[in-house]
Amino acid sequence: MTTGSERGGRPSGASAGGGPPAGPAPLGPPAAGTMGMESRRLLRRIRDIMAGSGSAQDRLDQIVSVVAADFVAEVCSIYLRRAGNVLELFASQGLKSEAVHMTRLRVGEGLVGDIAAHARPLALSDAQSHPAFAYRPETGEEIYHSLVGVPVLRDGRLLGVIVVQNRTQRHYREEEVETLETVATVLAELVARGDLVPLEELHIVEGIAVLPQRLEGLRINGGIGWGQAVLHRPQFRIDRIVAENPAEEIARLDGALVDVKSALDALFDKPILSDKEGEHTEILDTYRMFADDRGWTERIKEVIRSGLTAEAATQKIINDTRARMGQVGDAYLRERLADLEDLGNRVLSHLTGAGPGTAEDLPEDIILVARTMGPAEILDYEGSRVRGLILEEGSQTAHVSVIARALNIPVIGRVSDAFSRIDPGDPIILDGDHSQAFIRPSEDIQDAFEELAHKRAQQLELYAGLRDLPPVTADGINVSISLNANLLQDVEALNETGAEGIGLYRTEIHFMAQDRYPDVDSQVDLYARIFEIAADRPVRFRTLDVGGDKGLPYWPGIDEDNPSMGWRSIRIALDRPAMLRHQVRALIIAAAGRPLHIMLPMITEMAEFYAAKKIITKEVKRAHERGDPVPDDIRLGVMLEVPALFWQLPVLLPHLDFLSVGTNDLFQFLFASDRGNPRMADRYDVLSPTALRFLKDLVGLCEAARVPVTICGEMAGRTLEAMTLVGLGFRSLSMGPHSVGPIRAMVRSLRADQLSRYLETLLTLPDHSLREKLRAFAHDHKIVV
Ligand code: PEP
Ligand code: MG
Repeated sequence: MTTGSERGGRPSGASAGGGPPAGPAPLGPPAAGTMGMESRRLLRRIRDIMAGSGSAQDRLDQIVSVVAADFVAEVCSIYLRRAGNVLELFASQGLKSEAVHMTRLRVGEGLVGDIAAHARPLALSDAQSHPAFAYRPETGEEIYHSLVGVPVLRDGRLLGVIVVQNRTQRHYREEEVETLETVATVLAELVARGDLVPLEELHIVEGIAVLPQRLEGLRINGGIGWGQAVLHRPQFRIDRIVAENPAEEIARLDGALVDVKSALDALFDKPILSDKEGEHTEILDTYRMFADDRGWTERIKEVIRSGLTAEAATQKIINDTRARMGQVGDAYLRERLADLEDLGNRVLSHLTGAGPGTAEDLPEDIILVARTMGPAEILDYEGSRVRGLILEEGSQTAHVSVIARALNIPVIGRVSDAFSRIDPGDPIILDGDHSQAFIRPSEDIQDAFEELAHKRAQQLELYAGLRDLPPVTADGINVSISLNANLLQDVEALNETGAEGIGLYRTEIHFMAQDRYPDVDSQVDLYARIFEIAADRPVRFRTLDVGGDKGLPYWPGIDEDNPSMGWRSIRIALDRPAMLRHQVRALIIAAAGRPLHIMLPMITEMAEFYAAKKIITKEVKRAHERGDPVPDDIRLGVMLEVPALFWQLPVLLPHLDFLSVGTNDLFQFLFASDRGNPRMADRYDVLSPTALRFLKDLVGLCEAARVPVTICGEMAGRTLEAMTLVGLGFRSLSMGPHSVGPIRAMVRSLRADQLSRYLETLLTLPDHSLREKLRAFAHDHKIVV
């Protein structure tokens, strides 16, 4: 409809227009003393209108009249958004009065609809020559040549549009556009009270600020999710918009800036940071630079001088920054704008006295949008209401992805501009299978996905039908399928999936979801519940695997340059033996005489295994001495996650009851490729000859030592990878509950002997990945992958 260069085109080629801004312009102040006086005079009149008597409609009528007079314009009109995504003319000075409440435009239709659809200002000296111009005879608007309009937005949602029109071909100045934006900010508050458009209707339409969009990302977890966008980032409620006394507001802003700066200084001066060079110091330096940056603070002050409160002005500058981020292609500049946005949020937090928003008022079905997330943060939202997760960063084996998978939440990652393209409340269909998200989907898309969801449900029914069929290959090889469990509900999935047991219980997730360290009694409660649900099926309890990206909220984090290779997991447990002792004690009590399987994470050398075993033996002895029931059988296993342990296996295996391979960590260390770094996400493939030869040699060692080996990393839950593992000789796989159906179907369709022979021919190839060859093999042999 509109051409790129004209859409949102501020006059004089300002940065919020169609093209990207040149150089560092977005960070600079506007021309000095430009908008203050005129805008303040207008705002004062609007404030009087707001404070006066009369209905909301009366106020709207008065506002259009004072704006028209102030702009020396023939027309000023306000359109408000109604259900069905239409804009209704609510008030006008200059258009025919019979058009008010009669004229309705679809969002996207005409120039007003165009402003709404793109949620950007438009200033045109020759409006009728614009391709989006739509002629509405009832308004008599054909005689007006120029037009300036801005969206009325609140919390990123479109509530309406305010436009000014002139008979002549007038060139509106940038300051005039800004003045109109400030009026729109006040209007937004009036509309949000619900006297003009009922609140229920505002809720129905909220979030559909712009036209449908499709975003692509990296597939992290399959499945389809529907819901409304919730942006995982600070949100503040601003109750006071207009201020009488700019000097007072500037003093408040200065006070908040001092607070923010001293908080940053305190952070910066922490000894652990101050004596090191590194990314964090650079980030803090940049922050400090911004907090001191006169250009940025001047821009806020300039808006304050126009009549807004310090918080409303800061919010306005944050909104501008967000809008610019959507336009800037340069990665460095975008990062800096993101820093400015964060800094703005800090200032807002000080001004409003509020911390970041909490999870109240969340929609029923949530599609979470986050830059990145810790694994515990997703649990802060009610898991059962989260239908999907869109990450600006993210990778398949990051812990948040693992948790989301366990909760069966579809996830796509590396959607680099999710925040600038999605508004809170936007309806979204997330298609994890095809790594795409439809924002504000059209009816056609919705219908197509309803159909797809129906097919998926049928497929799930099919898997449920396979539940009692043994996972045996077509050539008679038994493959044990067990579950990776993070939460109690995953243990409950034993029944519906027909899995043999729990191959990996990540005990740390429970620790991460608490607000204080769980004592022995509360651990006993949890483990006893797990034993009860699992009944006679084995559960491998992995001892606490914290550190890295799995922090405990009540435990001050330590700053390390490489946390995943730092003080984590068994290393912490051996340095703080009471932790391991108490956990083992709780496990022994909860087992109450039943067999107990304990699995030690991140073992790197024999000495660590011996030290951990000693602690376990001591606890068993303690239970004996106290006359407590002792498990009739303690089975002790180790996770292979650090490549160095591989060469110790000949001496370690004879001491083990089982070995479990954590391929998520193992391959991040083998390939020196951070599992949580989106840039590395598909750099190396677990189906490369290197990884598969490593695994093949591993099966050989375990077979020779007669020690059962399980794969419990994420690769065991993906059909093509699991097929390959069976071909290499693995007979035990542990995975998230939602992978069991597809993996069972794959196993039953596979002839392992054929695949093993084929793999022999592949492992010495120099290929980057064998994925395509293996996929073709699966296709040719009708293996369900
Ligand atoms: C692994 O590293 O493969 C594993 C299963 O452990 P986690 O994903 O919890 O680190
Ligand atoms: Mg691991």
